[in-house]
Formats: sequence, structure tokens, C-alpha cells
Amino acid sequence: MGEKGGNVELIKAARGTELRCKGWRQEALLRMLENVLENGENQKELIVYAALGKAARNWGSYHAIVDTLTNLEDDETLVIQSGKPIGIMKTHALAPIVIMANCNMVGKWATSENFYDLQEKGLIIWGGLTAAAWQYIGSQGVIQGTYEIFSTIRSQHFGGSLAGRFILTAGLGGMGGAQPLAGVMVGAAILCVEADESRVDKRIEVGYLQKKTRSLDEALAWIREAMERKESVSVGLVGNAAEIYPELVERGITPDIVTDQTSAHDLMYGYIPVGLSQEEVRSMRGQHPEELQSKAGASIARQVEAMLAFKRKGAIVFDNGNNIRTQAQQYGVKDAFDIDIFTEAFLRPLFARAIGPFRWVALTGDPEDIRKIDQYILKHFADNEIVTNWISLANKYVPFQGLPARIGWFGHGERTKLALAVNQMVREGVLSGPVAFSRDHLDAGAMTHPNIMTERMKDGSDAISDWPLLNAMLNCSSMADLVAIHSGGGGYSGYMTSAGVTIVADGTEMSDLRLKTALDNDTGIGVLRYADAGYEESFDEIDKKGIRRIETEGVK
Ligand code: NAD
Repeated sequence: MGEKGGNVELIKAARGTELRCKGWRQEALLRMLENVLENGENQKELIVYAALGKAARNWGSYHAIVDTLTNLEDDETLVIQSGKPIGIMKTHALAPIVIMANCNMVGKWATSENFYDLQEKGLIIWGGLTAAAWQYIGSQGVIQGTYEIFSTIRSQHFGGSLAGRFILTAGLGGMGGAQPLAGVMVGAAILCVEADESRVDKRIEVGYLQKKTRSLDEALAWIREAMERKESVSVGLVGNAAEIYPELVERGITPDIVTDQTSAHDLMYGYIPVGLSQEEVRSMRGQHPEELQSKAGASIARQVEAMLAFKRKGAIVFDNGNNIRTQAQQYGVKDAFDIDIFTEAFLRPLFARAIGPFRWVALTGDPEDIRKIDQYILKHFADNEIVTNWISLANKYVPFQGLPARIGWFGHGERTKLALAVNQMVREGVLSGPVAFSRDHLDAGAMTHPNIMTERMKDGSDAISDWPLLNAMLNCSSMADLVAIHSGGGGYSGYMTSAGVTIVADGTEMSDLRLKTALDNDTGIGVLRYADAGYEESFDEIDKKGIRRIETEGVK
């Protein structure tokens, strides 16, 4: 859909080893940009995921970025502001190729109303976490996170097995689409409610979902049958979560695990209120935006009331990072925060060691490259149970989307070990070409979100956004190839700031230096952030790995 000179064509990431740019670092970032659009939910609007998360400000910006990357020298840096290329700076050969700041507004002004207004004027975009930073790799980007959450619940609450257990969730969009596959990987029967039938079809098409129905009775029959046989199944039910969840409560059906991954963070462009078609939502957005938001808020409140009812009946209920509790509370559900947030409930001990969603992309498009890296990991990280378990499962279950990619929850030192080994494999021609390393912004030192990532931190530092800013500056000083600072848009406005980083393994010695410095420092500051908040796991990591922390007298 890259309209240029009258031509309309679907954007797909380039494959193979032929370069369009002056070096692999520029080519890599260009392919990463194309790849987020190839994998995106609505390419025509440049929307990648999370309702409004965009890859570039508009098509003019997209083409200007492509032209610039194509002609950019090794010692130049492209500067991007909210998805629009601003200028080219003469820097030096070890500086980032691209730096970007997306959707940052100062405190008092960082409201959803101001965001929508600025977006309307074409001045700003919501970049999601990985959309505008060109790091999105399809639903795979969150699948290990979702899997780790379900498997932690499995061991914490269900004696190590989810056979015969029922997971209820909603939302089969860019990220939520990972849920059915993760549910099957943990051995459960998972029901996913999705209002937009085309999203259900898309998940079936990419191999993340098994069955589809428009009938709740049929969905429940499939779930019940799988539970009786203690088999896994994933079912996509076309319906509205704010209707289906209360209906299940009404029928006295209590799932074992309940969550939600609709775009509840955004009442204008994300959550679909009960009783409205997509068309009606679109027209109401233009004509009665306030009414649309209050209808969405009221529906969310209904859904969260049902989630609380499930919790009272003994289900394990959690917020999966879409601000649904915050919205529900604003629309009258006083006890919405009785529902746990997934980060604090299940993942914080990992983040305290800076173990988080690391990822790599085979830039030539050859899936064999990812399989060779899988083999390396299974052999050389054999004592790392989280990673080896995941890589074996991913190999079996997770289909590739766009450029072949893999996610793996690695920590400090481990990311560097893997990246340097991969760089050597590129150098020696074991792999067909370069590999880009990146991570989700939802990573130890990289994200402040007091209702998601940093809720109830031990020292109360939930809202301090110095950490992602330091993280981004450090990544620039550490010679990363792309560094991004994002803040929330839509309903996330004023709620979050995050930092993103990408580094290219092109087989050169310069890449060795970049990868080692940037990856060690990226996780190093993550460990220090959690140590600063008082987490024991971080002190242990500091001792074991020799991270240099400064103790200061007289300050906590
Ligand atoms: P998306 O916009 O691509 O998909 C959201 C889906 O929800 C859409 O398919 C939409 O049709 C559906 N939906 C909306 N209202 C509904 C309703 N009432 N009933 C049923 N379905 C409904 O968004 P996404 O990328 O999948 O992200 C979903 C949410 O998860 C966002 O809020 C995002 O910010 C959050 N998120 C969390 C994490 C995490 O780490 N936990 C990671 C990424 C995204």
C-alpha cells in the first residue's frame, strides 16, 4: 500500500542478500520498518497493533524514511519525531543510524484529549511499544510472555498441569492473537472472545488459533469436550466480551483462569462497546466522540464486574497489560484494582534479574537461520531451563510471521553471549546473512507504567520515568543502531514512558563491539533499576555478574 507516483503496492520486507542501502545497518532498519508493516493489522493506515500503534506519521513520512535510509552514510544519523523524519545529522561511525522520540508530551498536557487533538492535526502518533520503533515481529512478540504467565499460574495454582482447565480471554488483535497459541502450549482449553470476525480469521490463517464459531453454546461444547479429554484446544468466539463474560457469570460457569487483551486502553479507537458494529463505531467517532467513549467505558465496566465475579468464585484473574482496570475504575468499578497485574503477580522476579523479551530477526528471510540459532541455544544454554524449554516449544508450535524471528527471555550477559555467537555465525557464513537483535520496550530498565510494569514497586518508585530515559541515553552512548523513546498515546497518555533498542549483527568486528556494549548496558541498567527499588534478585545478579553499582550514603 505504499502509494508513490500513483502505484499502490503491499509493503513486504525485502528478502535475500542484495543491499538497497549503503550498508547492512541501514538495510536492516529498513527491513525492520517494512516488516512491522508486513505483520501489521491495518497496513493502509500504517497501523501495526494496539489499536493505533503506527509505523510512521503518514505515507509521505514512510517514503521519506525509506529514501533517507537508502542514501544514509555510515557516519550519519536519521532523526525521527513521532514517525516523521526530521533531518540527517553528521555524527560518526559508532553513532546510532536512527534515533527517534514518539508521542512524548509533558506531564499536565499528556491527556488522551490532547493526544487525539494533536493526532488529528497530524503532529503526533502513538507508536505502541514496538510499532513506531520498527521492532514488532507479529504475535510472536508477546507469545513467550503470555506462555510464561500461564505456566507460572500452572505451577503456582494448578500443581503443574493445566490439562482439563479452562482459560477465558478476549481480544485476538496484534498482541492478543498470541493468547490461543500460548494457551494450547500450556495444555489448556482456551476460549478467546473477539468482536471483529476478520481478526479471528487472521489468527486461524497464521496458525495461532484452531477453531472459530459465532455460537457461545458451540464454543462451550468444544471447551467442555477438550476439558473432559484433558486435551488442549483454542476456540475463537465472535462476540463482545462485555456481553459474553457476564453471560458466563449468569450461567454459573467459572473458568479457571480469566484475563483480557482487547484494546481497552483506548476508548476511541480500541474497545468496541456492546451493541455497536464497527461501522457504527466509526461514524460515532466522527460525530459523537464523547458518547462513544462513555459507551466503551460502560461496557468495560460490565466486563470487569464479571471478571471480579469470576475472581470471587475462585478463578485466577489478572490484567494483561491493557489498562482495563484503570478504565473500569474511571467508569465506576471501585474495586477494579482487586484484580492483579501480570507483571507484579507473575514476572517481577524475572525482570529484577533483567530477564525479559529479547528477540532476533533473520534479515535475509531464511527460516533456517532461526533454526540454526535455536540449535545453538539448545546446546550452549543447556542449563537455562526457561530458555531451552521455550525454544523447544517454539520450534514445535510457533509459525513465523513476516521475516523469520524468535523471542527468548534472556538476561544479563546471556543476551550478549548469544548475540556475539550469532555475529560470528554471520561472519563465518553459517547463517545466510545478518540478524537484528532487539527487545520489547516492556523490559527491566526500559519501561515506566505505574499500572502495568511498575505497579506497586517495593520502594514506591512506580511513576518515576528517569529509568527509561537513562536507558535510552545509555543505549545511544553504547553504540546501538536504533534507539527510541516512547510515551503513551490514546488512553495510555500520561501513563507510560519506554525505551527501545535495535542492534544489527552484520558479522563485522564493529558489530561485536556494538552488541557487547549495548546489550550489557541495556540489561545492566535494568538490574540496577530493580536493585535501586530493593529487589533481592537484583542484588544477587549484581554479585554474580559483577555489575558495578554505586552505594550512596544517606539516600535510599
Ligand atoms: P489490537 O488493537 O491489535 O487488538 C485488539 C482486539 O480487541 C481487536 O481485534 C478488537 O476487535 C478486539 N476488541 C475490542 N473490543 C472488544 C470487545 N468489547 N470484545 C471483544 N473483542 C474486542 O491490540 P493488541 O496489539 O492485540 O493489544 C491489545 C491490548 O494489549 C492493548 O491494550 C495493548 O496495549 C496491550 N498489550 C499488552 C502487552 C503485554 O505485554 N501484556 C503487550 C502488547 C500489548
